[in-house]
Amino acid sequence: MQRLTGIGVSPGTVVGRAVILIQRAQVLRYRIAPGRIEHELARLEQSRATARDQLLDIRARVARRRGPELAALFDAQLLMLDDPLLVPRADALVRRQRVNAEWALQQVFDEFCAVFDEVADPYLRERKGDVADLVGRLKMNLRQGLATPRDLLREVDEASVLIADELTPSLAAQVDWTKVRGFATDAGSRTYHTAILARSLEVPAVVGLHEASRLIQPGQLVVIDGSANEIIIDPDDAVLARVSKPARDIRSPLEDEADRRRPAATADHVPICIDANIEFPDDLPAARYAGANGIGLYRSEFLLTAADGATEEDEQYEIYRSMVEGMAPGPVTVRTFDVDEDQLALQSADSPIGGGWIANEERGSRQGLRGLRLSLTRPDLFRTQLRALLRASRHGSLRIMFPFVSGVEQLREAKRQVDLAAAEVARRGEAPPRVPIGVMIEIPAAAYTADLLAREVDFFTIGTNDLIQYCLAVDRADERVSRLYEPLHPAILRVIVMVRRAAARRHIPVSLCGEMASDPALLTLLVGLGLREFSMTPGAIGVAKQVLSEVRSDDLRAMARRILRLPTVDEVERELLAALGRPVVARHV
Ligand code: PEP
Ligand code: MG
Repeated sequence: MQRLTGIGVSPGTVVGRAVILIQRAQVLRYRIAPGRIEHELARLEQSRATARDQLLDIRARVARRRGPELAALFDAQLLMLDDPLLVPRADALVRRQRVNAEWALQQVFDEFCAVFDEVADPYLRERKGDVADLVGRLKMNLRQGLATPRDLLREVDEASVLIADELTPSLAAQVDWTKVRGFATDAGSRTYHTAILARSLEVPAVVGLHEASRLIQPGQLVVIDGSANEIIIDPDDAVLARVSKPARDIRSPLEDEADRRRPAATADHVPICIDANIEFPDDLPAARYAGANGIGLYRSEFLLTAADGATEEDEQYEIYRSMVEGMAPGPVTVRTFDVDEDQLALQSADSPIGGGWIANEERGSRQGLRGLRLSLTRPDLFRTQLRALLRASRHGSLRIMFPFVSGVEQLREAKRQVDLAAAEVARRGEAPPRVPIGVMIEIPAAAYTADLLAREVDFFTIGTNDLIQYCLAVDRADERVSRLYEPLHPAILRVIVMVRRAAARRHIPVSLCGEMASDPALLTLLVGLGLREFSMTPGAIGVAKQVLSEVRSDDLRAMARRILRLPTVDEVERELLAALGRPVVARHV
């Protein structure tokens, strides 16, 4: 039995057989049922046969164009294709270890590399490149038809847990979570979108484990304990007995329907508005069940992760319309696509807008063209989304929110695009109503110009996930620095107060939708700082209402006044703990 400690990003405990995903190398390792061995061997053989045809074809073409000498280079690869240490060895691993063909091939390649690295002869050492080329071809052939990680994940047996180097939101969004019970990743932090997704799907998850994907073998039994920030490899009977008890219901402590529906308020009856953050239209029932007043943040960019990316105007319109109707009379705040260049470019071959997320490793700077900035460089796509939103607004209460705004110029240009989109819709005879326009305050520049922005918008939403990372210069997706990601940093508390005041002076509403709000202890501090509107993952709403009903707003205000004078995170945290008289649920949100 071995324990690995990480960051629990989604609570709950599950146990299952490990499926290993190395997303950076696009390799998935998993154990196969005995009945599938012949199928895997047939895939390997098919891949070898295809490789032979491809190599013969390449050799003939090279011979025609460049002569027989160059063509002979491919003879070496054709010979290797029949080497007993290659495909037959992979066959043996599939039989012996009961693993999938891709992983068997990868192990064979690693064995080859180890041998080549030992030999002194430089000529022989260079042959490693040929093997790499050939193995790459075999893997590519295996991928044809079925085997992208996404497809393979659909094939896994029930009661699995996913162990990955990293897990992108687009892949996480497509996993069948009825089969895969939880996940653990080497990389990640609490505010990375995949963690947010895990909480909204209520899938237990632990991230930031550094080398789980290397240490765990496919098929090993693993416990994922998102509440205790750890995973347990090869658990003993005592652990298994503990974790196989029916899980505590983490959905909501408010069992009673009437309790869930009751609006949130403090013990001294100060009303607090609690909306839900959602990623998929299908999350709407969960938001309603949890007793959300409305949708405070719909991350519309998740539309782009669907395999067929809902990007046409009519498709988007139907989705937004069903959301506003489904949430009525509560409002639905749709954030326009918040993607960056890399995310938009990916898979753009046949989609008009591209879509999908790509691994952090391969991504350029996240501080570049992203959110509203990117939308403004693609007015055609931006206006398609705006037209769909404006049309949907006729069916209920809809608000449009722009992400990643860093100045008034961008806001003005965005509003001009809204006017143009409205004129386009009006020309078709469907004059849209005026829709409230808001901005996310998530870049320090926006916070510092909140007084100026407030003159030109209808509402603010503070996005602390990004605001913290940019204020503190800590990449929220990089587990190496995630410990520095401190919501309780005095700078963050001050900046929140500054934005709240700017909004109050212009009499516009301000809410906060970052993950901070989902932590009940931090939520009480935010109420003390004067905020009255929040949006959070539906699973956190029940606890939030419960906690708020037990505290008085005047006590919280006094606590916040004391805290604002404190110089360090530790002192802030200690004061908060003392005031609440119980442990903070999670400091590093
Ligand atoms: C935020 O930045 O706080 C936020 C809610 O947006 P996202 O996490 O989607 O960037
Ligand atoms: Mg953000």
